[in-house]
Amino acid sequence: MRRFLIGCLLLLTLVAACAPGGAPRAPDGTLLRKIQDRGKMIAGVKFDQPTFGYRNPQTQQLEGFDVAVAHEVAAYLFGDASKVEFKEAQSKDRIPFLKDGTVDVVLATMTINDERLKDVDFSVVYYVAGQRLLVSKGSSITGIADTGGKKVGTVRSSTSATNLAKFAGVEIVLFDAYADAVKALAANQVDAVSTDDTILYGFVYQNPELQVVGAQFSYEPYGASVQKNQPALLNAVNTVVKNLKTSGKWQTIWKNEIGDKLRILTIPNPPADDWHKQVLAR
Ligand code: GLU
Repeated sequence: MRRFLIGCLLLLTLVAACAPGGAPRAPDGTLLRKIQDRGKMIAGVKFDQPTFGYRNPQTQQLEGFDVAVAHEVAAYLFGDASKVEFKEAQSKDRIPFLKDGTVDVVLATMTINDERLKDVDFSVVYYVAGQRLLVSKGSSITGIADTGGKKVGTVRSSTSATNLAKFAGVEIVLFDAYADAVKALAANQVDAVSTDDTILYGFVYQNPELQVVGAQFSYEPYGASVQKNQPALLNAVNTVVKNLKTSGKWQTIWKNEIGDKLRILTIPNPPADDWHKQVLAR
């Protein structure tokens, strides 16, 4: 009887210590605890980037790789993938939204780099892209070497803008959202749009008059970002990303959100957790 009672007590303690999902209840005063008490996570995602973060005008539903990862985090935290509220976070909003608590997590094609690590923390790498150019079919631009004296559209507070600035002679035209840059390209107001190839391919999928040209001229390893000094939250996000990669679910998400839409049959392997350290330190 005594053993039975002790057993019951242990079980109750364990149940009380765990949130309804897989994450243990976080210590008082932490952001993860606040999220658990609120009963939903707030994720900053893009709304205008097909295949990564996109509000489908037909269904009004958000879709894309980043959106799917956010649902996985919610499933881990609450045992319910729907317990996530999405807020649009354009590139310029990502760090301010984390700092002022507008969002708990940013999953928005965000490249991990030292500059940003001063302001926010990043999960392990969950995707790797590279910067390229988007042009109208028939354009004389075939790569970055052809962009001298040309107007190239990109987005504020993006690594794409910083990378383009390294090429002398490019006339950079800044927008808030990539979809606006693509509209300007369609209206011949810019000669090209440049950002991560992953994002550009999503726009080609929507607009077959456009094409991606030239070789990659940067590495863009993506991480989910969170406020600094929130190790419990960062650990939870890392657990989810690592599980996606080891379970094969990463490939399922890739196929559903990217492969099927872009009609790419070969499913890639997920990147190493420390891809950025291995490759960028070379
Ligand atoms: N990955 C780049 C960045 O984080 C460009 C894409 C974007 O702006 O979302 O700045």
